[in-house]
Amino acid sequence: MTACPSCGGGALAQIYVQDDVPVSSCLLFDDAEAARGVERGDIRLAHCGDCGFIFNAAIRQGASEYSERYEETQGFSPTFSSFHKALADDLIERHDLRGREVLEIGCGKGEFLLLLSQLGGNRCTGIDPSAHPQRIVGVEGAERVTLVPEFFSPDLARQHFDAIICKMTLEHIVPTLDFLRVVRAGIVEGSRPLVFFQIPNALRILQDAAYEDIYYEHCSYFTAGSLVRLFEKADFAPLRVLHQYDDQYLTIEATVGDAPPIDLSEDRAEVARLAASLADRVAAKQADWAQRIAAAVRSGRKVAIWGSGSKAVSFLAALPSPDHISVVVDINPNRQGHAMPGTAHAIVAPAALADIRPDLVIVMNAIYRDEIARDLADLGVNADIAALEGE
Ligand SMILES: [Zn+2]
Repeated sequence: MTACPSCGGGALAQIYVQDDVPVSSCLLFDDAEAARGVERGDIRLAHCGDCGFIFNAAIRQGASEYSERYEETQGFSPTFSSFHKALADDLIERHDLRGREVLEIGCGKGEFLLLLSQLGGNRCTGIDPSAHPQRIVGVEGAERVTLVPEFFSPDLARQHFDAIICKMTLEHIVPTLDFLRVVRAGIVEGSRPLVFFQIPNALRILQDAAYEDIYYEHCSYFTAGSLVRLFEKADFAPLRVLHQYDDQYLTIEATVGDAPPIDLSEDRAEVARLAASLADRVAAKQADWAQRIAAAVRSGRKVAIWGSGSKAVSFLAALPSPDHISVVVDINPNRQGHAMPGTAHAIVAPAALADIRPDLVIVMNAIYRDEIARDLADLGVNADIAALEGE
């Protein structure tokens, strides 16, 4: 790619390289051989000096598989579930989303739409190739929720919606500006829907050198500044932008028509500075983890990873000896019994740790540390807990 997909600018600099990583990190594999044989691709992050956007310039569109084998839900975590409910409550209150028409692009398994239906009586349409319409049958509020297991297309957006929601999806999209323009073109003339997008906050990834959050499926990395600039370029009117979930998420609310401008011009220099030092800081962090884990194994300690999602795939891909990790734990029953893409580690239920008895549990997302500590205590597992966090 020679032009920025968000602004069309050509002031691109390569800032980070991680070659030969699994292209699909949320896929479920039934056996170790298939998991090891996962297709691989390269990450070559480029930073656009014009708009501050960061993207994988080596991405092959269509390489990652989004299908019914894709299992991304975080809904089994009480920490995430309470955040999700508070988010739905907040949107319903502040935007009076009651009895309205809501579209969610990239709705996953439809959990958020179910909340908007249950809490606000909204009629909801969700589009996602990994949706499982049968999973919500019989769930409270599901009678107002329609899940369409397809990729988003302009035809699916061309009707009146009071709110258009897109959570944890834009970071998977290569032609970011084209995508926003399709969403914009679907908005019925004269209406002013709430447009709500939530994505990972790349500023935190840059600040923390959080390499576990850099993986193949995420080709597009935004900070508040580059996100606002993209929305403006696609003819949206940004209303507010904020960081949520311990700064892990970046949220934008927008509409169409006139709105007071948001000035985030100073974010450009900070992003450029952090981007330039990212590769060195990641290398230091990766070396530190490799050393820590190797030392634990040398002293006869068993090491487990808690969390089998994309962060774990990145973390394992960067370890020189991934076999130092005994097992990977996940609370999502749909993931248990499968094998990790790339390294083929077995994914087990927390209960299995009562037998495996790890001495060190590495938590892939620090926000779940307390939740996991309680689970381990309940299981009678006395292990040290370490979490991936900032430098
Ligand atoms: Zn740009």
